[in-house]
Amino acid sequence: MKVLEDQILKRGKVLPGNILKVGSFLNQNIDTKLLSEMADEIYNHYIDKKITKVLTVESSGIALAVMVASKFSVDMVFAKKTQTANVDGELLSAPCYSFTHKKQNTLIVPKDYLDSNDSVLIVDDFLANGEAVNALIKIVKSIDAKVSGIAISIEKGFQGGGDKLRSEGYDLLSLAVIDEMNEGKIVFRK
Ligand code: 5GP
Repeated sequence: MKVLEDQILKRGKVLPGNILKVGSFLNQNIDTKLLSEMADEIYNHYIDKKITKVLTVESSGIALAVMVASKFSVDMVFAKKTQTANVDGELLSAPCYSFTHKKQNTLIVPKDYLDSNDSVLIVDDFLANGEAVNALIKIVKSIDAKVSGIAISIEKGFQGGGDKLRSEGYDLLSLAVIDEMNEGKIVFRK
């Protein structure tokens, strides 16, 4: 998506350790016009999939996921990374290694928030090795619901998680795919 690629080049910052910082327009400070255009693109791609729920992981996936869910007029659910006192009842969970925090988490979703009849669209801000998305897939499959698609703002193609999901047959839409990244340049997949 050209407008997103342009913003990444203009406002993104490559940090050591293959981390792209997009805090000034997609994370901590959110460009809502851009986010809405991104959500439109995702909506148009999955319009025929009868999406009934959008699923993401806290916290940076939530903004785009809410915007996408509102286009489909469905609920958005996010997985928590820690079990807090206000999480109760039966839980769905899956292990997930965090690329940015370099630690093992367990993603948790209350069982009541997903239904076996759901057609789920998984949404996240970044796709790197695929740990977070694969944990969300496990959660959806654990109740026999359907993963109808996976929509990502920025895929770091050089880390391989996205191509693995494509080879497994998932309908993966990444709005920008970065094939090469260092402090001097960012190369997008054509
Ligand atoms: P994965 O699980 O695919 O290895 O990594 C994806 C998760 O790690 C996303 O949920 C995202 O929050 C975080 N992440 C991975 N790479 C980056 C990055 O370059 N920049 C930022 N801001 N987050 C990242």
